[in-house]
Amino acid sequence: MKDTCPECGGRNIHVASVVANEDWQEFLPNVGGMFNRPNLEANICADCGLYRLFVPMQHLNDIKNNYPQLGSPS
Ligand SMILES: [Zn+2]
Repeated sequence: MKDTCPECGGRNIHVASVVANEDWQEFLPNVGGMFNRPNLEANICADCGLYRLFVPMQHLNDIKNNYPQLGSPS
């Protein structure tokens, strides 16, 4: 569950938006587009400091179409 920290089990999760800059193509090429940059959602656990990044749901099809699934032949 996103509202529970997988590291410490804490529920003090805080949310921040990580805005893509001019280098956005470097970290997720083929996702989104010129006018639909894939900003990321950061979830930070205020109990242990774990920092997780999530790609927004609207971009997950691009991820499925452009990146191999772990453990599957490509
Ligand atoms: Zn934690």
